This record gives sequence, structure tokens and C-alpha cells, in this order.
Amino acid sequence: MLKGTGVSEGIGIGRIFLVNDEPLEYTPKTVTDKDNEINRLKEAIDEFCRITERREENFRSTAGDEEAAIMMGHIGIAKDPFLMGEVEKLIGNGKCAEAAFESMCDMFIQIFSATGDDITKQRAEDVRDVKTGVLGILLGKNELRLSEVPEGTVICAREITPSMIAEMKKENIAGILTEAGSTTSHSAILARVLEIPAVMSVPGLMDSAKNGEGVILDGVKGNVILSPDETQLRCYTERREKLIIERRELEKYRGKITASADGTKYDLVCNIGKPEDAAKALEADGEGVGLFRTEFLFMDKTSVPSEEEQFREYKKAAMILKGRQLVIRTLDIGGDKNIPCLEMKKENNPFMGFRAIRYCLGNRELFKTQLRAILRASAFGNVSIMFPLITCVEEIREAKALVDEIKASLRAEDIEFDENIKTGIMAETSAAGVIADLLAKESDFFSIGTNDLTGYTMAADRGNSEVAYLYSPYQPSVLRMIRSIIQAGRKQGIPVGMCGEAASDPMMIPLLISFGLTEFSVSSPAVLRVRKYISSWTKERADEVTAKAMSFETEKDVREYLETVV
Ligand code: PEP
Ligand code: MG
Repeated sequence: MLKGTGVSEGIGIGRIFLVNDEPLEYTPKTVTDKDNEINRLKEAIDEFCRITERREENFRSTAGDEEAAIMMGHIGIAKDPFLMGEVEKLIGNGKCAEAAFESMCDMFIQIFSATGDDITKQRAEDVRDVKTGVLGILLGKNELRLSEVPEGTVICAREITPSMIAEMKKENIAGILTEAGSTTSHSAILARVLEIPAVMSVPGLMDSAKNGEGVILDGVKGNVILSPDETQLRCYTERREKLIIERRELEKYRGKITASADGTKYDLVCNIGKPEDAAKALEADGEGVGLFRTEFLFMDKTSVPSEEEQFREYKKAAMILKGRQLVIRTLDIGGDKNIPCLEMKKENNPFMGFRAIRYCLGNRELFKTQLRAILRASAFGNVSIMFPLITCVEEIREAKALVDEIKASLRAEDIEFDENIKTGIMAETSAAGVIADLLAKESDFFSIGTNDLTGYTMAADRGNSEVAYLYSPYQPSVLRMIRSIIQAGRKQGIPVGMCGEAASDPMMIPLLISFGLTEFSVSSPAVLRVRKYISSWTKERADEVTAKAMSFETEKDVREYLETVV
């Protein structure tokens, strides 16, 4: 099995069409008849624009106006007077049309690619697409026949461009696989809009995949199975059917407010690991971000990201969210999360060791750098700070004192930040559950991390299969812990959310409604599903179910009862 990044959800099953990506090769010539060469280029550009207009119409009917605008943008690039003027100058100096056009396009691609922001990088992607299109016409090699592939085709390419997608007949495409590409590329966005399952950034794809070979791809997990066996085919076909029916049904909840059957509103936000995921959260109809796990920014780095680098990332997420909530969790490392660039010491019992807030308070410069980056980003959106693994009042007081210290230095330097930025905690340890009343007095909000809370309450490691039978949110102890955290927060008048996996569990939702949770923070693909679950409960019915569930003495009884009510 190959593994990439799932960028467009759904299961794709079909046969591979390998896109031939041989470079458009030519031997640059010196030209003497410059007018003729310029005419040749102009004709190629006109032809390119005609083809692109057709693609634009295709997008307008299959995807939407915004997507069609990408094609309009390509026409704009091809006809750009500055680009054309410079190309004509090069032809005037004797370069052939191919070489002149290619070198100017490459110059723009280089400039756009060098910037950090996604929008400009997308411009580079657009120029590359235009370059390939025009060069193909000039060289008479525009032979990509993506519009003619048969039904059930999985397009497999080193890189896929918006023009290639515009060329496809959606009904024939079972999926898209690429070796390059990212979640935020135009192509990934287009695949999502067109609801074509897609996995990108699959290392080794082009060396392993063969034309006509059977393939399965999972657009959420990023898995790619080449030449699947009968059992895999049967299992994935069933999953695909179920997903298609469910997705159709869930679309009814898009654009709706999140509310219970009797009208109580809830915040339904997303958990993200990278700034780009904020865009995915919005596409999934999430109402903001309830947990940005910042450790992912540190994980694959060879050195600790600087304040500037972090600031850019946090700002990017804040800008994408345009004033919607963005809760940034400070570095949560240790336990099962190792960060190579921090060279953390090996511990006998890492889950009980020097992790998360403990590590940050023990490494102040690192912590202060992150807090400064977050505070600076708070000037660009609705940002809050969340501290992980809080177990006692001193920890949150110390962390807040550092926030105050950094605020003072930013003020002195005349650097903008949100003076009223909120600071809250992850309630995810048994200690936090027991003293939730004390912690609530120090916090602007709580977010319950049931992934850790379940482990710490049950003293059962979430990764240890020997004790997996204990690791369950339906354990009476865990449920009581959740209830007391929510009640303590409510009593203090602060919002209480949940960002652990239990927030999207249909069996937990009546209990969470009954306990008084105000925010559900879930993975993006779960948004519409959770909105649907919430909408199916009245408070009265949720209270009844909760009273009964809380009366049981064993996990099994609770679980079996809840299974009967959803
Ligand atoms: C949790 O513990 O529930 C949580 C959301 O944090 P993480 O899974 O990142 O530890
Ligand atoms: Mg946690």
C-alpha cells in the first residue's frame, strides 16, 4: 500500500490512466523572421484561449463560477500585455517563440514560488499550467485526451493542473492520484468541489503504478492500494456505497446553524494541525477552529521554527478564518508526540513526564517565542490561546503571567495584538477534572480533551492494546469526570467545549447536550454528521437518556444502552 495525503474525501475504485508527463522537449532555434515567430506565438495563444474558454464553460456547469474564474485567470495570464511585451523583446533578440515564452513563464514561476503564501504559490501553479498549454500547441503535442478516458478511470499523474481537471468528464473519473501537490493547490480544491476522491503527495507513485492496473484510493486516510484483491474490492465497494448515500443525505445540513431539535444553538468547529486545514474546515462548513495542534509545525523540522515562521503560520490560519474563532493550543509534546528538533530526553513514563505545559514552562524561551508569535497573529483575527495538560492552578497562573509579560513587551515595541485575547485550558487530566471549579476561575474557557482524559482517568494508555478494554469514554468514571468539568465551567459562566474524539461520537452527543457542553470541535469530515446528530436531540430526551446512562455501573451496560438509542 502507498500512502499520501487525502485531499478530497471519498473512496475511488477503478483502473489507472497514467498521464504521460514527458517534458515538452524542443531544440531552441535562432530566428530571423521575427514577425512570423511572433504571429506563430499569437496564434498558439489564441488557440490556447479558445480551448480554455471551453474548459471555463465546463467548470461553470460542473463546479461553479469561482472555479470557472481560475480558467479566466489562465486567459488573463496568456494575454498579459507585460508578459507578451517581454516575450516579444526576446523574440526580437532572436529567440524562438517556444524558448522566449518558456523563459518568461519560468521567471514568473520562480518569483511566485519563492513567496511563502499559498495564494501566490497558486499563481505559480497557474503560470505553469499556461506555459504547458501554450508550449504544447506550439509543438503540436497537445495530445492529452483526458476527456476521452472511460468510466471508472483513476487519473494518475506526477502533478495535476486545473486545466487537466477542466478537461475531464467528471462522470468518468473515479479518482485522482498525484505524486506532487498539496491540500491547498487549486487542483485539490477543484477535486473537492467536483467531489472526485483524491490523494496527493504519494511518494513513489509514478514508479509503482501501471497503466490499466486496478486501484483503490481513500481520499480521507490517503491510502492507495494498487492491484487490490477480491476481499479489498468488496470491502471498499461497500464502504463507497455507504459513504455516497450518507454524503447525499448530509448535504442537507450544509449552511445550516448547529442546533438541537428544540432550537438550542451550539458552536461546531474543527480540529486542525496546519494553517491550510483552516480552509478545509471552512469548506467542510465548520464554524471556526476549536483546536489548532501546533506541535505539527515542529514535528518534521530540523530546527525549532522561529518566532517569525510561527507568526506567519498562525497569521495565515487567522486570515483564512476571517474573524471566525481560532483556538491555538500551545506546544503539546511528549507522551506519544516526539519532536526530533527538540531532542527531548527519554523518559521511563513519558505520559506522566515532562510534557506539554510542563515542558513549555521548563523551557521558557521556547514557550515565550510561541506566545509572542500567537499574540502577534491575534491582531489578524479572532485568536485564543489554549494550554494543554493543565493539572494545577499554578500552571495556568504561570502561563498567563508569561502572556502578560509578552503583552507588555509588545506594547512597548508598538506591535499590535488583541488586548482582550482569551486564555483557556484543555481539561484532559483527572487532576483538572477534580479541581475544575478552581481552574474555571482562572480560565476564559475549557475544552475537554477526552483522548487524554479517558487515558488519565482510567490509567490506561491509549496505544496499549492490552488495556484497550478500559480505554472508553463510556466508563462511568470518565462520564462523571466530563460531567463535573462541564458543570464547573457552567457554574463559573465560561464556555465549555470538547475537542477530543468523543465530541463526534453519536452515542456521546445526548450526554454532552444534557451536561451543558457549548462547543463541539471535531475533524473537518465529521462536521455535517455532528450537526445532524445534534439536530436530532431535544434537551428533554437527551436528559432522559443521560439519566438512564448515568445510572449504570459498568462501561458495558452504558455502551449497550447507548447503542439502543442512536
Ligand atoms: C485530547 O487529548 O483529547 C486532545 C484533543 O488532544 P490530543 O489528542 O492532541 O492529545
Ligand atoms: Mg491531549
